[in-house]
Amino acid sequence: MKTGLVWDERYMWWDTRHGGAFMPAGGWVEPGEHAENPSTKRRFKNLIDVSGMGDVLVPLKPRMATVEEVQRYHTPEYVARMKELSDAGGGDAGELTPFGAGGFETALLAVGGTLTAIEKTLDGSVETAYALVRPPGHHAQKDIGRGFCMFSNAALGAMHARQALGLDRVAVVDWDVHHGNGTQWAFYDDPSVLAISLHQDRYYPGDSGMVEENGEGAGVGANINVPLPSGSGVGAYVSAFERVVCPALERFKPQLLIVASGLDASALDPLARQQMHSAGYRNLTRQLMDVTASIGGKFMLTHEGGYSAAYVPFCGLAILEEITGHETPVEDPYLPIFEGIGGQDLQPHQAAVIDQAAALVERVPA
Ligand SMILES: [Zn+2]
Repeated sequence: MKTGLVWDERYMWWDTRHGGAFMPAGGWVEPGEHAENPSTKRRFKNLIDVSGMGDVLVPLKPRMATVEEVQRYHTPEYVARMKELSDAGGGDAGELTPFGAGGFETALLAVGGTLTAIEKTLDGSVETAYALVRPPGHHAQKDIGRGFCMFSNAALGAMHARQALGLDRVAVVDWDVHHGNGTQWAFYDDPSVLAISLHQDRYYPGDSGMVEENGEGAGVGANINVPLPSGSGVGAYVSAFERVVCPALERFKPQLLIVASGLDASALDPLARQQMHSAGYRNLTRQLMDVTASIGGKFMLTHEGGYSAAYVPFCGLAILEEITGHETPVEDPYLPIFEGIGGQDLQPHQAAVIDQAAALVERVPA
C-alpha cells in the first residue's frame, strides 16, 4: 500500500527531563534518563532510513493542530494552563507528564501530525499512513495530562474525522501495553466511535481498563477492554485479535480505523511485562489490513508508547513492511530468542479473559 510517514525532528525535542524510568527525580530517586526519551522513536526513524524503507514511504509534513481542534476534547482551562506552563519553562501536565519549554507547541504538532495522517489517508493522497509522533497521547484526559501524554492524539483524530471530515463511524484499536484511558473516556457515551484497548491487566493508569467498562448511555457496547494478564505473548494477542478485535470491527464497520500504536508490549520493554515480538506485530497488522479491506474502510496508525530503544525499531519496521509489502534486507536479530520464550502460546488464564471480551462483540453497535 502507498503509505505516508509523518515525521518531524521537533518531536525529538519534547523534553521529559530527568527521572528514574517514569518517576520524577527527587527524594530517593536519582536523576537519570526518563523512560520516554527520544531514543526509541529516533532509532525507529533511523532504521526506516538505513533499511531503505524510507524510500518507499511518502513523507508527510505535520501541521500544527489548532487550539480549537484540541478543545474538541480538552477543556479550555486545561489547554490554557498547558500554554502558560510551557511559556514559563515547563512543568507537569498533571500526573507523571513532565515537559520542558515549548512543550505546548510540540504537543500541538503531535496532534497535528495525527490529523495530517488522517487527512492524507482520507483524501487519497496515500492509502494509509504512520504518524511517528511524540509526545504520545492515549493517557491524556479532558482536563489532565497523564502518563507522558499532554493531548489525546488518537481521540482528537477520531473527533476530527467525525466533526470536520464528515465520517459517521470511526474505530480506535489501541495495542499499546497500557490502557487507552483517554480514548475510552472521550467516547464512553458515544456510539459513533468504537474504542478497543488491549493492555496489561491492572497496570498504568490502573484506575481503568477492566473488561466490565463497556460504555454508558448511548455508547453501551462501543467500548471494549481486553486486560491481558502479565506475561501474555503472541498467542494471546493473536487470539484476542481473531476473537475480539476483528469480529468487533466487522460488526461495527468503521469508515476509518485509527491504530494507537504503542510498541511497549514487546518482550524487551522496560516498562511492561508482555512478550510480543516483531512477527507478532506483523500478524496483528495483517489482521487489521484484512478486516478493513473486507469492510471497505481505511486505517492509519499513530505512535504511542514503547520504551525499548533497542527493540521498538524492529517491531515498527515489521509493521511498515507488512503494510507496504516492501521487504527490506533487515532481519530482526532478537526474534529467534523472543520466539523461544516459554508461554508464547495462548495460556488458559489468558483465554479466559479473551472469552469474557469476546462475549461483548454482540453488544457492539451494528
Ligand atoms: Zn504504553
